[in-house]
Amino acid sequence: MQTPVFLDHLPDASSVSGRKSERYRHIRNKALIELLMDEDVAWVDRDCPACGAPATESQTFGQVFMPFQRCSGCNTIYARRVPDQPVLDQLRAAHPAARSEGATEDEDSQAREFEFISILNWISLSDGRGDRRLRKVLDYRYSSHAPDWETAVGRLSKSRSWQFLPLDADAAGEDFADLAVALKADTPDVVLIQAEMDRVAHPEKLLATIKANAPKGTLVFIASSCADGLEYELLGAGAPSFIPLDRLAVFSIAGLRSMAERLGYTVREVSTPGRRDAVILDQHFRQAANTNVPFWSGFFRDADRNRLYDLQILLQRSLRSGLLRFVIET
Ligand SMILES: [Zn+2]
Repeated sequence: MQTPVFLDHLPDASSVSGRKSERYRHIRNKALIELLMDEDVAWVDRDCPACGAPATESQTFGQVFMPFQRCSGCNTIYARRVPDQPVLDQLRAAHPAARSEGATEDEDSQAREFEFISILNWISLSDGRGDRRLRKVLDYRYSSHAPDWETAVGRLSKSRSWQFLPLDADAAGEDFADLAVALKADTPDVVLIQAEMDRVAHPEKLLATIKANAPKGTLVFIASSCADGLEYELLGAGAPSFIPLDRLAVFSIAGLRSMAERLGYTVREVSTPGRRDAVILDQHFRQAANTNVPFWSGFFRDADRNRLYDLQILLQRSLRSGLLRFVIET
């Protein structure tokens, strides 16, 4: 199994503290409050969506807006209750996130382009490893999440053919029926699930749909936020990356591995290529100058860019950054 490390430069501090990300957070929290107040929406209680451990054996992670738990078995963070998938999908379709969550307006297109290239490189790296060439890629919903993604792929990825399946609440229904139909109609070599596992009500159903409808040997590329990240360890529910409606499940490495293996997948690659943890934590400790967290307050008080860079590399190497990537095989 591969655990690669990726880092060429640290993002700028402005990209994690801009008004844009604050505004995005307010928009999503407003949508969540409206959802919570809607008496027609049914919420279903659940246990850990990753490893299945009972919620009664978990710890409280946060209580703002609604209860979130931290699984004692696998460390995954999850909403104790979720609405139906079509309700979430309709909400997203009504409030499209036109811009990236973290970036300011100026940085936006540059940050996006960097992210797009990083995803394409990730697929290219895996292409050389196996005996199967990765010619056809099916993108599930990321084209709705990142509006420029489809044109970027057209510019940057000429050696592969791509199919984009945008968010469609009616066609997807409760069980991602649109994905099942697409997988049966034209079998891809790769299914890309970028920034989706933490937003759906039942992530297990999403992976089970792929497993049931894609031929053996299909690779599934999953990128999601990571509960093992240092940001969540130190800041908990106060972490800037924690936007409840977008983080209904924040998987740990052990949690996602357990879910994938339970569904019959083979895990081929695990990495945490996040770039922002060190900069986010540096910002936090500078703004909260009065707090005294053993070791870390002093570490960040004296930190320069080189130290932050070294920390970020260490987090990636030890699978402790706030973004995880899995490649799993059906
Ligand atoms: Zn768990």
